[in-house]
This record gives sequence, C-alpha cells and structure tokens, in this order.
Amino acid sequence: MQLVTVGKKSFSDYLQFIDQKTEIELKYLVEKLKDKRIAMINATSYGGGVAEKLHSIIPLMKDMGLNVDWWTILGHEEFYKVTKSFHNRLQGQEGELLPADIDIYLKYNKMNASYMHDWQYDFFVVHDPQPAALIKYRGKKEGEKWIWRCHIDTSTPNPEYWDFLYEYLLDFDAWIFTMKGFVNEDSDFKNIVYITPSIDPLSPKNIPLEKEDAKAIINKYGVDTQRPLISQVSRFDPWKDPLGVIDVYKIVKKELPSVQLALIGSMASDDPEGWDYLYRTLRRAGEDYDIIIITNFNGISNLEVNAFQTASSIVLQKSIREGFGLTVAESLWKGTPVIGGNVGGIKLQIEDGVTGYLINTVEECAQKALKLLRNPLLAEEMKEAAKEKVRREFLVTKNIADYLRLFYNLSNN
Ligand code: UDP
Repeated sequence: MQLVTVGKKSFSDYLQFIDQKTEIELKYLVEKLKDKRIAMINATSYGGGVAEKLHSIIPLMKDMGLNVDWWTILGHEEFYKVTKSFHNRLQGQEGELLPADIDIYLKYNKMNASYMHDWQYDFFVVHDPQPAALIKYRGKKEGEKWIWRCHIDTSTPNPEYWDFLYEYLLDFDAWIFTMKGFVNEDSDFKNIVYITPSIDPLSPKNIPLEKEDAKAIINKYGVDTQRPLISQVSRFDPWKDPLGVIDVYKIVKKELPSVQLALIGSMASDDPEGWDYLYRTLRRAGEDYDIIIITNFNGISNLEVNAFQTASSIVLQKSIREGFGLTVAESLWKGTPVIGGNVGGIKLQIEDGVTGYLINTVEECAQKALKLLRNPLLAEEMKEAAKEKVRREFLVTKNIADYLRLFYNLSNN
C-alpha cells in the first residue's frame, strides 16, 4: 500500500459555492467526526476520474479538520490487466472469468492487505473493484465501518464477474453508487447510498480561463483557433468510443470542411489497455491533419485540459457506458456545449436540449454537432442552465457533504 501525498486546499475558498444552511450542517458534521480516522483506498493516484476526485476531496476534508488518508494499492501489470477486464466486464462486456485471473486478483489483494493489519481507522472507503477483496484478507475489526464506492456503470454487469465480486461486497457496511439502476435494490446490500461525483471549481482544471488565453494554449498543440473545434477529453478506452468520435467528425467534416477534432487522453497507470486503444484510434484517424490526438506524454496537464474544454466549439463525451463522466460536468461548468452518450451518469448531467444533447448513435451525434456549429446562439442559450446545474449538483462541496452525512449515519447506527 502506498500513501498518497496531496496538495493543500483551503475550504474557506469554497464557501462561495454553498448556502448558509449547508455551511452550518458541515460545521456540525465535522465537529462530530473530527476524532474519527478515515482511509480512502483506490488503485491509482493519477489518470481517470477517481484520482481526479480524490485529489480535491481529500485536501479539502483535511483542511476542514478531518483525519483522512489516501492509500493506493500496489500492483504489477498482470494485476492491472485483470482488473481492467473486471472493469470492462462489470460494465457489461462478455467474457469468461478464468481461474487464473481470480488467482491474480486475489493474490494482489492479499498482498496489499498484509500491510494493513495494524491500521487503525474508523472508516475504510474502498473505491471500485480493484481493492474490493482487501476486506476479506484484512478482516473487519470491532467498530470499523467499510464502505464500497462504485464509480462504474454496473447496470448490466457480466453476471459471472458480478457474482464473484458480490461475495466480497457483502462484507461491507454501506455501498455507494452514482445513480439508481446501477445496482439491483433487491440485493442483500443493506445501506445503499446514491452519491454523484463532483468537480473542483477552483482546481487548475476548472478555474475560469479567458477564452483568448485558452485559445493561445491550444494553438500550441496545432489547433487553428479561427476554425471550429470538436474535442473529447478521455482515456483511450472502448467505452469512451474514440473511434466513434472520429466517425462523427468525418460526417461533420463532409458538410463543414473547416472543422477540426482534438482527442485528448491521459494514460492512466492502472489502464494497460489504453496504449492499444490509442494506436487503434491513431489508425482510424489516418493522415488527416485536422485530427489532433495528444496525451499527457505531449505535455497535456490540467491547464491544457481546461484550455481545450474552454476553447472548443463543442465537447463530446460519446461514451457507450459511463459511471459518471466528470468531463461532462467540467465542460458544462465552463459554458461549453456538450453532446454526450445517452448512458449512465451522463444522463444525470445532460438534460437533452436544455443543458446539452444526449445521443444514441454516430449519425445523431454528427447531426447535433452540425446543429450547434451552425447555430452558436443555441449553445449560448444552454450555457446558463448548464452552469447552474453543475453548481447545484456536481461541485466538490456537495460531494463532501454527502460523504460526511454517510459517515455520521454509519457511526450512529
Ligand atoms: N483527464 C485528464 N487528461 C486527459 C484525459 C482525462 O486530465 O487527457 C481527466 C478528465 O479531465 C477527468 C478525468 O480525467 O477529470 C476522467 O474522468 P471521467 O469521469 O470522465 O472518466 P474515467 O476516466 O473516470 O472513466
């Protein structure tokens, strides 16, 4: 297990995003929970949405006076290959669960749990399937509460994989899912809580950037800022459908030859499949120089993501399955129109025609993109509704309040 070092944040800077009632409630909850120790455990501190969220939630919780540590589990490529297939299969991909994969999965959970025997925490928040079996090898001690936080879309899981994981999940005291439908409410889970993820409005990724500054940044990556730009910011992953995004672009390009496409993707350390999918995406793009494909290896970091989300004409999140899709909230918050796949957590964020567009096919996506590119006023009209929705529902302050309420309730029953 590895302790993650986080930056510093000041909760007082965030008071501007909450009302007085929530501020009073948060003070009360912190007072009640300040002697409790909390461990957050996940697979990686870089790349993808979970790491992104923890980098803002944890420093803020610390600044509020809570005692919280962030641990990542240790693994090698064989483990990440297996857990990536768990991720895919739990989102519904077909495939058989092989005994060799079970052995690898359990071997690393056992190895990581061996570091945890003396740990003294009141709450263990275990994120996603990778560390879910720690509970079996570490064992639950008197007074400890274990929470499993699922960030993926488990609405139609591969049954063999779900049944395997379920045996471990049953030992937890509470289960957090992003939305109804991601879990069968007839399951034996007794404390199911629904919490939506959040973005940090003051992080370098989301802090307001002037359009002109954003344009100057993306210009360095080869974007012609005088011409329309469609972007998708996502890991290179089949569920994010970067190949479909290129197909959308090709349809739009026929009608609007000036359009450009940017695919921005971070290569997460727990996602070995990412490289294969990046190469597939590059092949689909071929020799079209109006398609820009860049990653953190080209110097893309939070500020650059911010710039692409701010300066694009449209942001796509053409996912086929999606736990939440932070990139949607990030772009809506910046007032950039978003077209998203009509799946999972994207449906919580995009109210079709009000805060953006939901689409089911490549063709539909291309039509909506053309509509927005030809009528900039439409995007302008959706902007305020989109920002207000994110402010009310998807900021980190709301997420922290949800966690604290859960800890408080669990310590009282
Ligand atoms: N991200 C990034 N750089 C990239 C691609 C993605 O910083 O090149 C970030 C993105 O801004 C978002 C997170 O990674 O904050 C992805 O979270 P999301 O929920 O959209 O998807 P996940 O990767 O968790 O499936």
